[in-house]
Amino acid sequence: MKIRAHHLLCLHTISGDDEGYSKAFIENMKRIAEKIKKDPDTEIKVIKDMDDICRACPNNKGICMLKPGINKWIIRHDEKVLSLTGLKVGQTYKAIDIFPLVKKKIKADDIPAVCRGCIWLKEGCAEEYRKGMVL
Ligand code: SF4
Repeated sequence: MKIRAHHLLCLHTISGDDEGYSKAFIENMKRIAEKIKKDPDTEIKVIKDMDDICRACPNNKGICMLKPGINKWIIRHDEKVLSLTGLKVGQTYKAIDIFPLVKKKIKADDIPAVCRGCIWLKEGCAEEYRKGMVL
């Protein structure tokens, strides 16, 4: 599967009652998270472009149109996660390797700073990140 870098963080924090997302988007994201948990050998190609999570997003118009001009910010957010983790665009990793690596490089306490500017950032994100997606 293809996952853009900053979604490696978001995948820890999705829950059924998230506001502001469409039902199809949440179901798709949950399906992806469940597949990864069920099969830790799942191969993940890291990108900084529209990915398998964006696929079901109503803001996906070929680029992210969550709001005008945000696509550049989203790509910079991906680049920030790439730089902090050392992950390489276009490279494929096993889920069992990539998630522990992400969590080693980006601590839960770093989430508010790393994700500053994200309109979905909420108080509980850091805690959900701390507890979520343990492989
Ligand atoms: S808001 Fe933008 S980056 Fe996030 S899932 Fe939707 S299209 Fe992708």
